[in-house]
Amino acid sequence: MKNADIVSRLEEIVGPEHVLSSDMDRTLYGYDASLEKGQADAVVLPGSTEEVSRVVSLAFQEKIPIIGRGSGTNLSGGTIPVQGGIVVHFSRMNRVLEVDIPNRTVTVEPGVITLDLQNQMLEQGFVYAPDPASQKVSTLGGNFGENSGGPHCLKYGVTTNHVLGAEMVLYDGTVVWVGGSSQDNPGYDLTGLLVGSEGTLGLMTKVILRLLRAPEAVKTMLAVYDTIEDASNTVSAIIAEGIVPATLEMMDHVVMKAVEESIHAGYPLDAAAVLIIELDGMSDGMDRQAEKIMEICNRHHVRDVHTAKDAEERARLWAGRKGAFGAITRLKKPSYMVCDGTVPRTKLPEVLSRVMEIGEKYGLLIGNVFHAGDGNLHPLILFDERDGAELEKVRKASSEILKICAEVGGTISGEHGIGVEKLKEMPFVFSEGDLDAMRNVKLAMDPDNIYNPGKVVPEPRQE
Ligand SMILES: Cc1cc2nc3c(=O)[nH]c(=O)nc-3n(C[C@H](O)[C@H](O)[C@H](O)COP(=O)(O)OP(=O)(O)OC[C@H]3O[C@@H](n4cnc5c(N)ncnc54)[C@H](O)[C@@H]3O)c2cc1C
Repeated sequence: MKNADIVSRLEEIVGPEHVLSSDMDRTLYGYDASLEKGQADAVVLPGSTEEVSRVVSLAFQEKIPIIGRGSGTNLSGGTIPVQGGIVVHFSRMNRVLEVDIPNRTVTVEPGVITLDLQNQMLEQGFVYAPDPASQKVSTLGGNFGENSGGPHCLKYGVTTNHVLGAEMVLYDGTVVWVGGSSQDNPGYDLTGLLVGSEGTLGLMTKVILRLLRAPEAVKTMLAVYDTIEDASNTVSAIIAEGIVPATLEMMDHVVMKAVEESIHAGYPLDAAAVLIIELDGMSDGMDRQAEKIMEICNRHHVRDVHTAKDAEERARLWAGRKGAFGAITRLKKPSYMVCDGTVPRTKLPEVLSRVMEIGEKYGLLIGNVFHAGDGNLHPLILFDERDGAELEKVRKASSEILKICAEVGGTISGEHGIGVEKLKEMPFVFSEGDLDAMRNVKLAMDPDNIYNPGKVVPEPRQE
């Protein structure tokens, strides 16, 4: 990229104060929450769809990569400029455009912070359900890009289940709408294709989201176990019984220790694992359901199970869960890698014990905190990034964990996407033919490979 010329053309589009091109800025935008690093050629902060469209059109003419960016909290290298290019940072496009309560929709720009929208909707008695643990900082654009999940997605589904339509800027700068606020849309389901496409097929500039009525009642329980196996078996048994709680989260003793050192959520330090089980909905019948769950917990040797006595205790339990990734660095090592594999719930005990064996094999400490109800594991591998040999072991361990997930009938990502970090694991779950179908979609939507190149789909295998 001919930097000076492109930077001045970008400045003409968005104004000089909204283009960053110093060495420091370009390096800063070369990071996200993954272990990967790159360097942007320039960073642009557009204020409108029209500006995004003009930036993309310029990139298309000049054949420069475009990388969309929300808060950069993705865990798979999705915002790393692996081939340089222009990072489009959506922090200025952060308005809630229309709240349509009778039709239960809200239209927002991509830079709105997830929790800000949720708090604003709750004041009116409604919820936007997908709740990634990073919701305090993640954006709705990033949630769209990654098809993010969260604890409550067990009952309510992930981001794609809550996106009705979106305004998209295509590879050459053309602006189109996919989906819409009506319940059914004819034609190809492009909304479904674009949610979770990690910025490789287009940039979303507006999105229509589904709102749900806030539940009348909520009950949050903490179940304490002496073995991970008993906790895991409880998870499968609850679902097998036909009960779908709002959340079924698990945390092991390694993670609880880190959380208690920083957040003091009230988890027992001598237990092997806890489950956070939350029920929500009508208050009628909820006590009966809670009793049933307690009975199942007892059947699986729970040491203690109790309901949060008030909103404050509930908030503390959740603060511990949502702060777990951040807290983990208290445990001697400054860096961690989050694996994100999904397995059938019934395989949880087997897979968790194989994960621990991998930790022992490589001499790495691994903690687990995850969406157990979805079978979505998040082994956190602790290490020191400055130690190259240890980093290499972490990458091997992570890949082996994902291989196990695939072998038992699961997959290599539950919600954190593929980005660059998991490209080499894609063949664990897709044949070369499957990957070719994806390559053809990319070719149709982005023929010159402008959008986020080097992500999601690996290069064809060399025979
Ligand atoms: C502590 C911590 C906890 C987390 N917990 C969870 C969790 O519980 N569940 C979960 O699913 N994830 C979780 N994550 C991962 C991450 O927060 C999510 O992937 C989140 O959705 C990313 O949002 P972001 O705004 O940071 O997006 P970014 O990281 O900036 O971008 C994510 C992807 O979306 C693309 N993108 C950004 N904006 C647009 C746009 N406007 N149009 C098209 N594509 C776009 C980017 O190119 C990139 O590929 C966690 C991360 C951390 C650090």
